[in-house]
Amino acid sequence: MRLLLVEDDRMIGDSLRKALRDEGYAVDWVYDARAANATLASERFDLVLLDLGLPNAQQWGGGLDVLRTLRARHDTTPVIVLTARDALGERVAGLDAGADDYLVKPFELDELNARMRAVLRRHAGRGEPAIEHAGVRLDPATRQVSFDGAPVALSAREFAVLEALLARPGAILSRAQLEDRLYGWGEEIESNAVSVYIHQLRKKLGADVIRNVRGVGYYIGARQTPGGTSDSTPDSTPDAS
Ligand code: CA
Repeated sequence: MRLLLVEDDRMIGDSLRKALRDEGYAVDWVYDARAANATLASERFDLVLLDLGLPNAQQWGGGLDVLRTLRARHDTTPVIVLTARDALGERVAGLDAGADDYLVKPFELDELNARMRAVLRRHAGRGEPAIEHAGVRLDPATRQVSFDGAPVALSAREFAVLEALLARPGAILSRAQLEDRLYGWGEEIESNAVSVYIHQLRKKLGADVIRNVRGVGYYIGARQTPGGTSDSTPDSTPDAS
């Protein structure tokens, strides 16, 4: 799951980003409305955590403007608004502008996590289509996976690896990037954990679905058809880790 954190307070932002990454979320962080608008216009996120009071608001707008801009182009990305204590008007305005939920600062991380899960569940329940590629169908809402129509039982970690790879078919994810998706499970990750999950996934889905670029990472390829050509050229440069 990929999050955008819009927060100008460096201390709050830094600790939130760390904590959410530990929960297994991939977190991008911007500090003002200008950067938030630019990022949201060019990239997809599963969820946005949006502070309302942002710097230079007269020129760039505040959090509410970010929200209104997002909704004005019919972008339904879930948004949780972060507001100051006692700012009832802000909370009402945020919800009316299209926020899915709000949280009053200072908040407990456990509550934020629970609200994020609830918002993501509701969002998926509104008919978010399952991810389908190369014969694999993954439903983030029900957490069910099938291959060529037949149900496949995956462990939670195998599911997380497959979900990350399916999110961008053809894009290579390095071992480190995949390990990031497995954080937050409350356990040390063994050095060969990703290789083990990939091996298990290949046993269940066939060796063809998940491709390995030696020393670089893994990606979901297009299906090889007899006499046809594959269009599964990787389209990203993985990080060097
Ligand atoms: Ca602020």
